[in-house]
Amino acid sequence: MSKSIQLYHKLPYFLKQLICSYEGKKIQKRRYDDSFLQLLKKYNERTTISKEDLYQFRDESLIKFIHYAIDNIPFYKKYNKNDFKTFEDLSKLPLLTKETVHNNIEQFKSASYSQSDCITSHTSGTTGAGLVFPVSKVAEKHQWAVWWRYRNNLGIKFKTKCGIFTGQPILNPTEKNPPFWILNNANNEIIFSGYHLHVNNIAHYINAINKYKIEWLHGYPSNLALLAKLMSEANLNINHKIKIITTGAESLLMYQKNLIESQFQTTVYNHYGLAEAVVNISECKNGNLHVDEDFSAVELQHLEGNRYKIIGTNYHNSAFPLLRYDTGDIATIENEKLSCSCSYHCRIVTSIDGRKEDYIYLSDNVPIGRLDHLFKDLVHVKQAQIYQKEIGKMEIRIVKDTLYSNADEKKLISEINMRMGSKIEFKILYLDEIKKISRGKFRFILSDVKNNNIKEMAENY
Ligand SMILES: [Zn+2]
Repeated sequence: MSKSIQLYHKLPYFLKQLICSYEGKKIQKRRYDDSFLQLLKKYNERTTISKEDLYQFRDESLIKFIHYAIDNIPFYKKYNKNDFKTFEDLSKLPLLTKETVHNNIEQFKSASYSQSDCITSHTSGTTGAGLVFPVSKVAEKHQWAVWWRYRNNLGIKFKTKCGIFTGQPILNPTEKNPPFWILNNANNEIIFSGYHLHVNNIAHYINAINKYKIEWLHGYPSNLALLAKLMSEANLNINHKIKIITTGAESLLMYQKNLIESQFQTTVYNHYGLAEAVVNISECKNGNLHVDEDFSAVELQHLEGNRYKIIGTNYHNSAFPLLRYDTGDIATIENEKLSCSCSYHCRIVTSIDGRKEDYIYLSDNVPIGRLDHLFKDLVHVKQAQIYQKEIGKMEIRIVKDTLYSNADEKKLISEINMRMGSKIEFKILYLDEIKKISRGKFRFILSDVKNNNIKEMAENY
């Protein structure tokens, strides 16, 4: 924890509240000015243009940006602009990994941007080194415009009162007394602490959701699933309708989606994005995940079966261009011809299956993903995590609710046997809580397996 956060945590609540409101106003002013509204208008208009016009917009933006990078960015100076005329020409550039960018970070920066033209962005760095890099203020507006288009399409407005459940360290983790939230009036939101969501505090959270008439819940799926579970165990109710729930930052696991939707009686929508802003994928009202083609150039590189590696090129961040950045994430496309009745003509992916490191390796080195399916019918699991220390072995960590019984354990064992048979040895461990990783994020799969053969296999998946 940084020194400034430690100092902030020592302040009385009213000063914390003042600081957060001040920061909220500052961010609001920087992010949502007139130029942002113009951008959002253009993003909204592009949801109804023809497929040809949409891809033409993407390709022209892309080529212009590659030419800019060749002219201005040391890492790309060796390339010739004449070689880049179409989307397909993008493949003439090498794939970038986070490691390559990290090791050559100065080579990706534009000399024409000063610190005051940019904000600083961070990747979480949960595996390997994280990145700290500049994002131009214009690129930041593009990012928020594409997110607000997604929200507007779902019926969310700027004025919709939002309860946020992410990992912001708004309060000291040792704080015992409410309020466990901070009001950010500038953005019309209440930021709830994800670190104090506990059986002893749940009534305070629900009282606040009722008091402030929150209509839209947004946050990490792990936090919202825990909120739903604690609320149902304590038999507490929201006295008004929660209109919509959106999640981000972590993969939305099937059991979490079921839990949240059944508790709040509303649909959970999901979107995929990353700090590097090279790809954005948004769920529409019909439940389809659309690639935001006009935000960045996305390559879905076929791996095996219906799995595709997600590679993205952002064409807005002139301060730090990332061309052909390998996100390390994998998308499943079950039906390439699937179209959506919404007006947006862009590719649809069935699901985003998480990162390469979200796999468990069987005794024959075969990686298995989407293990959240093991828990899909286990309604009495509060939290679950799978930990792998050695190939062919795994530890299932479970926080049970009061109704969890032997029948649930039997169901889980039978699911594991059905999917992985004798290729995995496992034990089930019951815990009081599961530790989170940096910024309060929860990781469903935790792996300490480090083996070069494995890495190669994972690359192929
Ligand atoms: Zn759609």
